Amino acid sequence: MNPAPYVGRFAPSPTGPLHAGSLVAAVASFLDARAAGGRWLVRMEDLDRPRCEPGAADIILRQLEAYGLVWDGDVLVQSQRDDAYAEALGALKALGAAYPCACTRSQLAQAPRNHEGEIIYPGTCRNGLPAGAVARSWRVRVPDVSTHFTDRIHGDLQQNLAHDVGDFIVKRADGLFAYQLAVVVDDAFQGVTHVVRGADLLWNTPRQIYLQTLLGLPTPSYAHVPLITNAAGQKLSKQTLAPALPGTGRRAVLAQALAALGHPPPAELAGAEPAGQLAWAVAHWKIENVPIQPMVANPVQAPDNLP
Ligand code: GLU
Repeated sequence: MNPAPYVGRFAPSPTGPLHAGSLVAAVASFLDARAAGGRWLVRMEDLDRPRCEPGAADIILRQLEAYGLVWDGDVLVQSQRDDAYAEALGALKALGAAYPCACTRSQLAQAPRNHEGEIIYPGTCRNGLPAGAVARSWRVRVPDVSTHFTDRIHGDLQQNLAHDVGDFIVKRADGLFAYQLAVVVDDAFQGVTHVVRGADLLWNTPRQIYLQTLLGLPTPSYAHVPLITNAAGQKLSKQTLAPALPGTGRRAVLAQALAALGHPPPAELAGAEPAGQLAWAVAHWKIENVPIQPMVANPVQAPDNLP
């Protein structure tokens, strides 16, 4: 049987414009898809409505276009997909895999945390709500076994969900579906075969594989590309006040993104239009050349003011 044709995706959260770090994830997923002759989709992950910034989704799409990152088909928008997420939650409930939880953030503040700083849920509501408590969120019961997976960049990894994460939220106390559930439902809905994304999501992967198993969905292949940090070693993000990609100097910004991915364009191409740099990178793309280590962002100089 032939393997499923490659379908990749870039799934930004429109909490603000793209910055140098999110560009690296976009470029990596684009190159991996195009080098495989595959489709490259864009999904707008505007699930966490309170964190989304009005207008950011459009800005992101214009930024992708400006960098020559041309996607296939329509953009899938998560805020229009609640019915699909509700159906998946219903399936988890029917399996007895999901249970209501009454815990508040402050009640869990003293719980142990994993190496990512996330609370490891102590299982307070696992066997039923405490007397008089009101359900706030929904969690998935996780098994005390190792989930093994192979990341194309990080190699063979394993995580015990019970030890490192605990039963995790699939529907939040504010009524919104959680990222872990939505990403799994949407990757399957869009037929995604290859996920290429930032390394900050590496340790979310076993949660997603577990949900895929419960819901009878295929598990795509995963590759987690290096993060870009600021000089203080913090991941570039809205929280660390990462600057939006500049409107000018795109050639230098893209050359830097390609260098972070272990594919610095040759000197004669570093000043080329984005489309020319990308065409070179598609032809030379080797995921084994992508480093594991994060890269510190250089403030990009654009002395020539080229677009
Ligand atoms: N929306 C997530 C983010 O912007 C990415 C999710 C994913 O690629 O799985 O960090």
